Amino acid sequence: MHSDTQTPTWMTEEHQLYAESVRRFLASEYIPHVTRWNDQGYVDPEFWHHAGEAGILGAAIPEEYGGAGAGITFDVVTTYEQALAGDFSWGFVIHTIVVQYVLAYGTTEQKHRWLPQLVSGERISALAMTEPGQGSDLQSVETHAVLEDGVFRVNGSKTFITNGQTANLICLVVKTQRDAGARGVSLLMVETDQVDGFRRGQNLEKIGLKGQDTSELFFDDMLVPEENILGLEPGQGFYQLMNQLPWERLAIGIGALGHMDFALAQTLEYVKERKAFGKTIFEFQNTRFKLAEQKTKLEVTRAFIHHCIELQRDGVLDATTASMAKWWSSQMQCEVIDECLQLFGGYGYMLEYPIARAYADARVQKIYGGTNEIMKELIARSL
Ligand SMILES: Cc1cc2nc3c(=O)[nH]c(=O)nc-3n(C[C@H](O)[C@H](O)[C@H](O)COP(=O)(O)OP(=O)(O)OC[C@H]3O[C@@H](n4cnc5c(N)ncnc54)[C@H](O)[C@@H]3O)c2cc1C
Repeated sequence: MHSDTQTPTWMTEEHQLYAESVRRFLASEYIPHVTRWNDQGYVDPEFWHHAGEAGILGAAIPEEYGGAGAGITFDVVTTYEQALAGDFSWGFVIHTIVVQYVLAYGTTEQKHRWLPQLVSGERISALAMTEPGQGSDLQSVETHAVLEDGVFRVNGSKTFITNGQTANLICLVVKTQRDAGARGVSLLMVETDQVDGFRRGQNLEKIGLKGQDTSELFFDDMLVPEENILGLEPGQGFYQLMNQLPWERLAIGIGALGHMDFALAQTLEYVKERKAFGKTIFEFQNTRFKLAEQKTKLEVTRAFIHHCIELQRDGVLDATTASMAKWWSSQMQCEVIDECLQLFGGYGYMLEYPIARAYADARVQKIYGGTNEIMKELIARSL
């Protein structure tokens, strides 16, 4: 994954070649647009088509649904490479999550309906769990779907939804039985171009991830066909979410790793150039010790994340281990980037320098995908 460390055992020659092609794609089709996307607050929908044409959206999707059938470790490569490029505007991780939901729980008909469109970039996906009144406590979602003559009537709202302005296939967490707790939760796939009563709210202003559209969504008597319940069986949503959250949490860890590699590389370049008191910043013992500490944190994190990638590849990554990966790696990411920024002095505070944006972008990693406090709760339950 990174040139100065040993190749992880899960990475084959195909992974290496794939990583090179993803890196080339990002360099030519992604990086040149990042500043504009950060200014406008979203990634051009056409970019998804380019990614589809380059074969990047369908790596983990079986060939019968238009993908490459190469497996989730190829999405690991893209997730890492995007973070290594230092920008999170593109909501690729959400795409991989929704793909995993459809693959795991969709009927054959549903897979044929949605997966080819997700492979081509024709459909941009979102995963809508969080509501204004609840985030961590998933069981208490208020958005509800009532079945009337083969159609669900949906009312409620969501907030903080990644890809919220651009998504046209939303995996929506609803209550199909309001007083049934976890057993009342279902996942409803909303094709936004085919329903009435769906409205997008604001593209929310954030301290970081400026190029990622994070939005409110509103459902006012939105009508969705009954056959859009993922897996066709209502009441399975909570179980489906719990089974797939480990991937989401590991993906955050992989992003943290790539982002730390990015920040450290930026910092090394800077401190070897910048001078104070007649020598480079790198020559001060404090700088060398700080960087030695950050590099160590990074490599320890890398070892654990690679271990988790192998577990995910083998289908045995459990919720506790994934929670450890999420909280630890995001904590390390924020610590490492903070220490790196310090070595830039005042320039580290200037948005012109990528380390400043990295600092702002990193902060949310401790919050979304389940807060780090919730991760510790989940780990503690296993003790
Ligand atoms: C940029 C961004 C993108 C996001 N993308 C998505 C998305 O695509 N889809 C989606 O559904 N959501 C998304 N979210 C929402 C995110 O997952 C939630 O913000 C997060 O789960 C926390 O929920 P909350 O904000 O309601 O905080 P709350 O649940 O209100 O928590 C507030 C504080 O209380 C703490 N807390 C809560 N419960 C406990 C407990 N039991 N023990 C100890 N401490 C506790 C929390 O850790 C936190 O510190 C996104 C958020 C952001 C900021």
